[in-house]
Amino acid sequence: MMDAENQMQFLFQLRKNGVTDTRTLEAMEKVDRGVFMRGVFSDRVYEDMPLPIACGQTISQPSVVGLMTQSLNVQPRDKVLEVGTGSGYQAAVLSHLARRVYTVDRHRKLVREAREIFDELGLVNITAITADGSRGLPDQAPFDRIIVTAAAEDPPGPLLEQLRVGGIMVVPVGQSDAVQSLIKVTRGPNRFEYDELLPVRFVPLLEGLGQD
Ligand code: SAH
Repeated sequence: MMDAENQMQFLFQLRKNGVTDTRTLEAMEKVDRGVFMRGVFSDRVYEDMPLPIACGQTISQPSVVGLMTQSLNVQPRDKVLEVGTGSGYQAAVLSHLARRVYTVDRHRKLVREAREIFDELGLVNITAITADGSRGLPDQAPFDRIIVTAAAEDPPGPLLEQLRVGGIMVVPVGQSDAVQSLIKVTRGPNRFEYDELLPVRFVPLLEGLGQD
């Protein structure tokens, strides 16, 4: 459990690193990152750094979770798609801001574990699904917001198609072994607008399902 001192330190680091949106900070205050690390690295979970999780993946740096969340500008009625469930931490943060969160990962094991935590925490508005998220989730489309937490070489076409007009997508774009750019895509009535937000480093968006 996050004690008061950890909590203060955690929020201080988020603010220092540019997370200033009140609703985002409030949502992050409600989610104990330690729960998503299952006790491993327990002394480091409240520091502002990415950490390894199962299946060779990583839980993102808290300030990057915060910056992505505030760029997404989620509204209370929104239906959100997250590609890259990982630990489930980002989805849990989004669940406090949106009406409904769909999160997909190509690793069955990660989806299963995240689902257990969502159940334990009573986060009933999250649906976690094993799928290749580069194809989106056509059955549930369109989405008001889409967040991709793995790096693509280009924003995947199916995700652009599944974004509602007026919707926002954030996606890290670039080679997996280099520094990538976090891109904000806004869908207007006739075209997509692209804004480059900040340099980031994510694991690659891979095609097909994982082995476990
Ligand atoms: N958002 C996560 C961190 C994600 S790490 C968190 O809060 O902890 C990136 C995740 O993207 C990994 O779990 C990886 O398995 C997943 N991933 C990579 N390519 C994918 C794809 N095509 N479809 C779905 N998930 C994918």
